[in-house]
Amino acid sequence: MKILVVNAGSSSLKYQLFDMDTETVIVKGGAERIGIPGSVLKHKTKDGEKIIEQDMPNHKVAMQLVLHALVHPEYGVIRSMDEIDAVGHRVLHSGSDFDRSVLLDDEVLAICKKNAELGPLHMPANILGMEACREVMPNTPMALVFDTAFHATMPPHAYLYAIDYDDYKNYKIRRYGFHGTSHKYVSQEAIKYLGKPAEQTKIVTCHLGGGSSISAVLGGKCIDTSMGFTPLAGVPMGTRSGDIDPAVLEFLAEKKGYSLPECITYLNKKCGVAGISGVSSDFRDLTKAADEEGNERAKLALDVFCYGVKKYIGAYAAALNGLDCLVFTAGIGENTWEVRRMICDGLDYLGITLDPEQNGRRNDGSIHDISGKDSRVKVLVIPTNEELVIARETKELVEA
Ligand code: AMP
Repeated sequence: MKILVVNAGSSSLKYQLFDMDTETVIVKGGAERIGIPGSVLKHKTKDGEKIIEQDMPNHKVAMQLVLHALVHPEYGVIRSMDEIDAVGHRVLHSGSDFDRSVLLDDEVLAICKKNAELGPLHMPANILGMEACREVMPNTPMALVFDTAFHATMPPHAYLYAIDYDDYKNYKIRRYGFHGTSHKYVSQEAIKYLGKPAEQTKIVTCHLGGGSSISAVLGGKCIDTSMGFTPLAGVPMGTRSGDIDPAVLEFLAEKKGYSLPECITYLNKKCGVAGISGVSSDFRDLTKAADEEGNERAKLALDVFCYGVKKYIGAYAAALNGLDCLVFTAGIGENTWEVRRMICDGLDYLGITLDPEQNGRRNDGSIHDISGKDSRVKVLVIPTNEELVIARETKELVEA
């Protein structure tokens, strides 16, 4: 079975074609600058990368170009579109309507449109991706895999904000959580690694990347997560502030003459480690500036980030009433050993220690145990694979 995984952003459309018999990627790529001059499609096969520069005024044209590349006589990988058995779409937000992946039909599409206001930066693009695929491949079954769905098992005391209950009821203002496919994948991999029944496991997963979130996973199910109503909440991130006193908004608006939307843009784009350091949102730049150039603000940014993550680990160890396993994943979690060291430093009371040699080893794409010899908690680096989760869930739905 071949499954095409699609991740549509506002001006991009990334794709991976999976052979699900072997769970391997046949080809991957992405259309960039959709609707912007200079659109380009980058199509990576095992033989190399093909760059196709062509005008892509909208997602439909981009999708047509992707399919054209997939069947191209020179750099294509399949003979005809009929070889694609199903499409899996990454979708940001399920609202309170879906607690798992679903097959796409008119009714589901209408619900996604209703929920678009919950994710104004991502949902309109996700919907354009669905519509473009349906137009170009009308007879191919499609599944939607939501970033929020893994967190649907959170109990009310974890997802409710302490606001007027009617506002929660009327407007669905609550914690949703994001990066769900990643937290799900790495927690399931960790459970396999631990080799005990899922019901007996207490895991904290740290997805540390451009956006970062931490989840508490009890018996394989999410019971709390650090992102909230939007992906702005939780730990500090590359350019996002993470948790902040909401009263800062009014103060900021007054001092800088910002409108409310401008305040939110500021918190999303100008803050985080980039804002503190004045260097970069990229942790490779930050660690270099801190370690090699002695840049004090870069050090401060790393301290604030690591302290933020450490506090969530402590909070979630309390929520779980113990901890068996701590998982690091995503760009920073998989690659930046200094950050893992700083986060785990001083967590020995929780039973967490690291093996410095293992922690310093380069990520080779497999599960990597970095626990110290005396660590009561298994500390693992697990490369995430959100696309594979989407492909697996699509296959499951289509076969059912
Ligand atoms: P992600 O959003 O998962 O792609 O993560 C992006 C973040 O990972 C960036 O802030 C990078 O600084 C960080 N990172 C650190 N080392 C690496 C690496 N070797 N490859 C990719 N990303 C890295």
